[in-house]
Amino acid sequence: MTSCFLCQGSEFRPFIREGQWQYVRCLNCSLIFLEPQPSRSYLHNHYQDYLPADPHSVERWRRLMVQVFSKTAKLIEEAVSRPGRLLDVGCGYGFFLKEMDRRGWQAEGIEISTTGLRYARDSLELDVSDQPLPRADWPDGCYDVITLFYVIEHLPDPMAVLKEVYRLLRPGGLLFLRWPHTAPIVKLLRPWAERLQLYQAPSHLFDFSPLTLYKILDQSGFHEIRTTVCGWTRPTTRGAQLAAWIFGSLGEKLAKISGDRVLLPGVSKTTLARR
Ligand SMILES: [Zn+2]
Repeated sequence: MTSCFLCQGSEFRPFIREGQWQYVRCLNCSLIFLEPQPSRSYLHNHYQDYLPADPHSVERWRRLMVQVFSKTAKLIEEAVSRPGRLLDVGCGYGFFLKEMDRRGWQAEGIEISTTGLRYARDSLELDVSDQPLPRADWPDGCYDVITLFYVIEHLPDPMAVLKEVYRLLRPGGLLFLRWPHTAPIVKLLRPWAERLQLYQAPSHLFDFSPLTLYKILDQSGFHEIRTTVCGWTRPTTRGAQLAAWIFGSLGEKLAKISGDRVLLPGVSKTTLARR
């Protein structure tokens, strides 16, 4: 990459290495990204093994996200007056879609991992496509809500996908993003961060901050952009569970009492925006 896709800045500093992979930080806008990116076909193959298929792992993943999904459902229902048509991009096994289906939504998904796709279609009987965005065959404004859970950081061209999401939402339609905010943890845990592989390189191609995420959504046409902290994951081990609960609940409370002005660095963020 000769310039930063977000600000067109051309000066970068090395940020962290994970094995053979190098992350850099744009000196102008602070966006962190993998440089160079692997090819699209490399990434496609990479994601074929990304989700485990054995029932224990699937159940672990369901439990990891169950609280995040139920809190998200409530957040969406507060923002949108009645159930409509929802698309979850990168829906994984489909547990969020199932939750929204139960709540009366017409819930559809896109998933490129064969494992996720099979589970969502066969076990949860959901309407899931294996074709990623953009979808020229889909009409403008056909969705009321589009969600992406831990997807934006994996996309080779996030701006192109967000512009397509914008096109597919009806005017006033809602975008929901859930994303990791990893850079503060990398900085805190230096020099051990390299071994922790927090970016699971080359999985995370970008690491956004509330500011860089605002910029990309603004440039993609969205408005009423609001970033907050909403819910926390439930990892398998007790220590990780405790950390997720402490930082997740603290982050949620700080966001609430400050009207989203204080967002705890390092905890996953939730961003809502309107077409
Ligand atoms: Zn930049």
